[in-house]
Formats: sequence, C-alpha cells, structure tokens
Amino acid sequence: MSRSPVLTFTDRGIYCPSGDFHIDPWRPVDRALITHGHSDHARWGHRRYLSTEAAAPVIRHRLGEIDLRTIAYGERRTIGGVTVSFHPAGHVPGSAQIRVEEAGEVWVVSGDYKVAEDGLSEPFEPVACHAFISECTFGLPVFRWTPQAQIAADLNHWWAANAAEGRTSVIGAYSLGKAQRIMAAVDPSIGPILTHGAVEATTVVMRNQGIALPPTTHVTPSFDAKGHPGALVIAPPSALGTPWANRFGPAAEAFASGWMALRGVRRRRGLARGFVMSDHADWDGLNEAIRATGAERVFVTHGYTSVFRRWLESQGYDAGIVETEYEGEEAAEPEPLVE
Ligand SMILES: [Zn+2]
Ligand SMILES: [Zn+2]
Repeated sequence: MSRSPVLTFTDRGIYCPSGDFHIDPWRPVDRALITHGHSDHARWGHRRYLSTEAAAPVIRHRLGEIDLRTIAYGERRTIGGVTVSFHPAGHVPGSAQIRVEEAGEVWVVSGDYKVAEDGLSEPFEPVACHAFISECTFGLPVFRWTPQAQIAADLNHWWAANAAEGRTSVIGAYSLGKAQRIMAAVDPSIGPILTHGAVEATTVVMRNQGIALPPTTHVTPSFDAKGHPGALVIAPPSALGTPWANRFGPAAEAFASGWMALRGVRRRRGLARGFVMSDHADWDGLNEAIRATGAERVFVTHGYTSVFRRWLESQGYDAGIVETEYEGEEAAEPEPLVE
C-alpha cells in the first residue's frame, strides 16, 4: 500500500496531508507554519499561524491581529499524524527550517537560508532528512559571497571616506534582516546611524525582543537632515534615488544585495557602489547545506531552479522543481515608503 508523500505541492503552498497544515502558503489556509517574517513567506489571511518565538514579534508587527502560536527552536510538536520542529535557518533573526516527520520519514523545508554566520541571526543548523526542499535564489557558481568580516571592513571604509569628505552615506537594505545586519557590522564611532521609518520600526521590534543593536535615529519629516554630515543612513532599496534620499545634502548611495555580485545589475541601478551582501546561501553554501542533510531527494524553489536541478542531478541526487510564489532577494520586500 502506498501512502501519500509527507509533503505535497499545491496551488496554496507546500501541504502536509497527515498533519493538515501548509508551510508558508501564499493563499489563505486554515493552519500555516511560517518559516520567517519576509512578506513572501508570512502572508495575511490564514486562520492560525505557528512560528518560532524569535520570529513572532516581527510577524505580529507586520500582520497585526492574527492567531499566532509559537514554538522554540528544536521543540517537537505533534500535529495530526506527524511530528514537526523548527531549526535555525541563518537567514534573518528568528528564521527557521521546518522539519516534518511521519512514520520515520523526514522531510525538511528550508525556507530561505544562509550558511555563513552574520553575527545576528541564529546560525544555520543542518537537519538530516530524506527529502529536502531547498531555496536556490543564488544557485549559480558566479555567486560566491565575501566573508562577513570583509564586508564590515568595506562598509566602514566607504562610510569613513564619505564622512571625511563631508558626505552622507545612504545605503539601501531591506528593513527586516539586512538593515540590522549592517547596523551590527559597522563601527558606530564613525558617526550617527540614521534610519528610514520602515527600517526603524523593524529595528525597534527587534530591540524590544532583546537583540542588541547600536543606537539609531529615525529620520522623521521634521528631522534636520542636512545637520548630520557624515552620517550613515539606512533605508529600504526603494527609497534610493527618491526625494527622501536626496534630503541629506551631498551624499553617496550604495546598495547591499547578493545581486551586487553582477556588475550589470549595479550599473543598471546607476550605483557607484554595491556591497555584495546577501541573506541567502551562495553557490557553495547551497551545495554544503544540501550535502549536510544527507537527503537523496531534493526539490528546489525560487531562483535558478532549472540550472540548479540539472546540477544536482549530475551530482546523483533525485532532484525536482517546486513552483512556488516565493520571491528572490530583490523583490522580497516591496515596502510602502511610509516615513
Ligand atoms: Zn526571506
Ligand atoms: Zn523567500
């Protein structure tokens, strides 16, 4: 007798028939297990939510009044006929991979993940499984990240050089994860750190849950923007090149993203400076993570799925593609520009 797989792929999202729940569904469902707070994974409209304790404050901040229960990393919980647990994904603070076990068979949904430590997110933990559903946003060999310490040194050098010339440094970074990673990486003795409203709001939520971040000043409409030459301004990427970003007087703009590894992207965005800094695994990270699971079956989602699947097949894996509505790093956060 053959039973249905532990997880199936539906037009609402990844579904567990025996547990009757979805993981990061993109259409409203009864019970949603959420890997992390980015808007393509944590959507509005589900009846019940389950996330890690660490991810919950940001999800509540973004989705408002929802029925959200929490689970600790590593805690095992029975839902219907399966056992679930959440494990660090190293993507942003609170992010998780979700492990689902049914009758000794283990499937893991990676969510978004990053293998390299960033000093802020709970470090990625490989979880042994039979089937691994992996993102592959940056699943090409051209994507190889700079070590975190080198990124920090480059950021500080850029900021200090701008400050010495009386210029403000404006950097575009997503408000959940990357913005705080930059704050934690830079040397606050160079100057004040100013924030756009979207960045400030998420930062305050994280500070309130005990994540140590340097002091920041929210740039409100009445803020004297020209009175802080040499400051570092952190804003969502969509604010770059807008009047909001032009209020600081002489300024240098930069963008922090994995896509900055592609020179063409940097040029199209008209940026003098791009920092290659991603919250996703690079080529080596993806391969290392997949190997560490010991999985024989790998399903890939968002990113260079067809190329990456062929690569995995050439390496002996039983590989498939899952069509999802998750977005890559660039589009992950279309944020309204509220100040
Ligand atoms: Zn994400
Ligand atoms: Zn994603």
